[in-house]
Order: sequence, then structure tokens, then C-alpha cells
Amino acid sequence: MKDVIRVATRAYSHRGVRGVRTYLHINCGCPIGPTLQGTYGTTDEARRATNELLEGTGDYYRVCSKSGLVKAQVLDRPVLHFDDTMTAAASTFNGAGVRDGDVLVVTSEGVVAIVIGTAVIAITTTRGSLTALDTSARSFRNGLYAEVVDRAVVEARKISATVDPLHATPVVEKSDAQEPAAAAEEAAVKLASIERRVRSLAADVVTPRTMFDPELTYYGDGTRVVRRARGTERCGTTFGMAASGLPNVYAFQAVRWDGGGADLVAPHILHRAGPATPADVVRTDGVTDSACRSRTGRCRRPS
Ligand SMILES: [Zn+2]
Repeated sequence: MKDVIRVATRAYSHRGVRGVRTYLHINCGCPIGPTLQGTYGTTDEARRATNELLEGTGDYYRVCSKSGLVKAQVLDRPVLHFDDTMTAAASTFNGAGVRDGDVLVVTSEGVVAIVIGTAVIAITTTRGSLTALDTSARSFRNGLYAEVVDRAVVEARKISATVDPLHATPVVEKSDAQEPAAAAEEAAVKLASIERRVRSLAADVVTPRTMFDPELTYYGDGTRVVRRARGTERCGTTFGMAASGLPNVYAFQAVRWDGGGADLVAPHILHRAGPATPADVVRTDGVTDSACRSRTGRCRRPS
């Protein structure tokens, strides 16, 4: 059960107007190459990071058109019961509040279904008035619905309904020890991909103001920095800068965080920090430094 939420910035050109747009990609297969900003565990995290990236730019983020359901949210929703498959089939249209990724049960007919988009798809051999999917719902759209199918299979068992063999793939038991290992591996992969992209900086670099961006400062390697955005602070140490690889898109500063992990950070929200103290480490409590102003000169929102 893992959502893949990515944030990427893309340059665009429309009738001679050039600019940059930032997109949230939720469980989609969009190829994102050199513009990759980061991968996030939850939509909240991704939205926060995206808002930080855009703070002061006057721009807002968009969600890519191929984005899929957010599994973490879908799997929290209750299983829905219907009296018959006719009613269940219409439930995505008739205001019953049935949504993409929901699991539907019709006990009287021995049918269990999942919702894909607005289609109510039976996963049991008995289908009543519902549609079938001619491919495995588990592997459909790169496995986006696999966990939803798992839920549906559990419901089918409860009402002793037979699951269509097409969708009934045996569940591989995972040991608990795999989870932290996977997270550590993911962090290592992310760090390696950042390290591949950065060039180290012996000293601070200041880029001139452009049509798109103000003057930007990139700190020399080993500089203690603080990222201030949305009333939170996070401290770390710089280890170079990475070009965006796109025309008119500013480069990012590579930062290793005090609490672990690393990110490519938009230079607008990074500031030189004092020497490390225990209080510097991942402060997300009330930050009241009202003297800190953003590059646009307006006061930061008090926290
Ligand atoms: Zn996408």
C-alpha cells in the first residue's frame, strides 16, 4: 500500500509566452526525468513541499491529468452495501457518494465489486447486473487498484462468494522487517540520485536576476542552512547545487538534513543559519522569527 506522489516542474511555451509550471503527480505513470523534484509518502507532504517551492512566486500547482486515486484515502473509506446489483451499478452516478476505488457488496446476489473511475466492476464469478473487466484488476493501471482488490476479496470471503480467478492472485505474505528496509533503500536511492545531479561548490554562487527569478544565492559546500517555509524551519548542511536541466528554471541547492535524508531545495526558501545547536534539529514547532522576510519583501506569515 504505497502511494507514489511526485512533484515536478516543467517549462512550457505558449504563443511566445514562456514559463514554468509545477505539477503534482499522484500514482501516475508519467515519465519524469531531469525535472524530478521529489517523491513523497503522503499527499499532505507533497502539497506542503509544493507550496514551499511556489511560495512567493504567485504561482500555484496543478495536479497532472493522469493522476490516479490516493490509495491511503481510498482504503480508509467504508465498504458499501447495496440491496441489488442494479442499484450498485448506478451508484457512481446517482448521488450515492460512491467514488473511484470503493468496494461494493451485494450480499443478496453474492456479488462483490470495485469502482474503477466511474465503472462498477464485479470481481466475483457471479456478476448480476455489473460489468466485468477482461484484464486482472490487480495489474490494471500498474497495480493502482491491487489493494482495493485485496479488500474486495476479503469481503467476498465474508459472504462466501467466489472471486473470479482473473483477479484472485495469491497474496504474498510480507515480513514486518521488510518495511523499514524498503524505506532505508528508498532514502538511499533518493540520495544517490541527488548526488549524481549535484556539482559541488567551493564557495557561494550568486546568479543574476532573470526575467523569471530574482537574484539567487547558492551556498558553498558545508554551509549550515535553514529552510524556512510555511512557519516551519528545518536545518541542514549544503552539498552542492543541481541544475534543473531546463531553460529558465533555476537550479536547486542540495541539502543534507540534520534529522537524516536529503533534498534538492528551491533557493528562495533557504537561508544561512548559525552554528548547529540541538534546537536547530527539525524544528516544526512555533517559529516566531518575525524579522525574517521573504524575497518579495513581505513579512512571513506569523506562526
Ligand atoms: Zn502524472
